[in-house]
Amino acid sequence: MATISMRPVREGEVPRDGGTAIQDDPDRPVFHGNGPDDYVCAGCGNLLAAAMDGVYMTKKVRVKCGRCKLVNVAVTGE
Ligand SMILES: [Zn+2]
Repeated sequence: MATISMRPVREGEVPRDGGTAIQDDPDRPVFHGNGPDDYVCAGCGNLLAAAMDGVYMTKKVRVKCGRCKLVNVAVTGE
């Protein structure tokens, strides 16, 4: 199990077709999977997606942190 830091969504890069998952409860990750990695907020380190498989964490997967309100995206490269 690895912990991967997401990164902030840059201004203007958000695709129109995707949605942003809102974390309602800062103590509960938005997504639960069966993969090897935890994904945490780039701003505050809060757990946003637990046990995710990297293939599902694409550019379209964005999570708004319930703690610091930062919108994160998982993909770090292009
Ligand atoms: Zn945060």
